[in-house]
Amino acid sequence: MDTASLAFTALFCALLVLGLVVRTVLSSRQIRHVARHRGAVPAAFSDTISLEAHQKAANYTITKTRYGLLETAIDAALLLGWTLLGGLDWLNQTLLDALGGGMLQQLALLAAFVAIGGLITLPLGWYATFRIEERFGFNKMTLSLWLADLFKGSLVGALIGLPIAALVLWLMGAAGPAWWIWAWGVWMAFNLLALVLYPTLIAPLFNKFEPLADETLKTRVNALMQRCGFAAKGLFVMDGSKRSAHANAYFTGFGAAKRVVFFDTLLKQLSPDEIDAVLAHELGHYQRRHILKRIVLMFALSLAGFALLGWVSNQAWFFSGLGVTPSMDTPNDALALLLFMMTVPLLTYFLSPLMAQLSRKHEFEADAYAVDHTSGPDLASALLKLYKDNASTLTPDPVYARFYYSHPPASERLARLQTA
Ligand SMILES: [Zn+2]
Repeated sequence: MDTASLAFTALFCALLVLGLVVRTVLSSRQIRHVARHRGAVPAAFSDTISLEAHQKAANYTITKTRYGLLETAIDAALLLGWTLLGGLDWLNQTLLDALGGGMLQQLALLAAFVAIGGLITLPLGWYATFRIEERFGFNKMTLSLWLADLFKGSLVGALIGLPIAALVLWLMGAAGPAWWIWAWGVWMAFNLLALVLYPTLIAPLFNKFEPLADETLKTRVNALMQRCGFAAKGLFVMDGSKRSAHANAYFTGFGAAKRVVFFDTLLKQLSPDEIDAVLAHELGHYQRRHILKRIVLMFALSLAGFALLGWVSNQAWFFSGLGVTPSMDTPNDALALLLFMMTVPLLTYFLSPLMAQLSRKHEFEADAYAVDHTSGPDLASALLKLYKDNASTLTPDPVYARFYYSHPPASERLARLQTA
């Protein structure tokens, strides 16, 4: 191998090892911290959370964090298997022998890669649902529903993913050196389209969405939305209980497709005042333009990503440094895409604290909005119920939470509500 390839292999290994070390250290910290505080409910919550609920949350958090470590180890092994150990090179050569070079071979390479990776990690997904979630009483899925989801998800993924992939591959071959700008445009258009089409076309394939039917609740909620200056349409209840006992509410889509979705599990657990407060929090995300900000950030980051892809896909070391021999007489674009998708998370992982920080800032802002338009105590009691029913730990490791948490830890969040 030449020096550039060797240097890139070394960089790849260094990033992989560094990522593994950071993940392991953080997860071990979290496990130890939660275990150390398992014995007693924190003082601030002693009136509202029972010791039993606190310990369930601790056990659930520890189990899930351990599972995360297992997943990390398997992902790393898979990454090495595809790259330096020759998996992707073998798959590519096999398909070249069978299909020759060209669009069909490239699409087959992408599809085979996704299918093989999916099959290898399938038992992990099964374990998470039917062992972990089941043990803590959250799983409501049957094996047949799980299989149906898998089938539908793969079908929808192929129907949407293959044409997009074909378009990007075509641009890579036909649009000249600035192809990556075009490809970025395609990718962004697809994302915007998905924001509109997902809630109306795709999500209903997996869940039932019914307009909020409870008249009293509807009147209250409409009044709140009017107070917040929000076009009062698109209020839906989703049958989340079909799959899981976890409760949630979310805001989705934009423009005419924007809607608020309540899980039926949430409506069951909260009082009408608490529902108002949670809805006001969701409206806060919208009114403070968090969704728009997120889209703009995604646009900028992916432009940088495509520029990087445009550059590395022309470098021989990018292929040979990752254990792949590029073909001399046919396009290597699908290979470049796959190698890029596999390696870029090694870099972006280190952006997670920044993204988490931004997200927590938005959560605080949405909470403040909810306090302005409904009531702080209602939001606080709703959040407590959700923490409890979702078995979220009240005592996360502070460093772990800084790095990963998209929502502020319960203690910080409730303390902020009390001062508001
Ligand atoms: Zn939020």
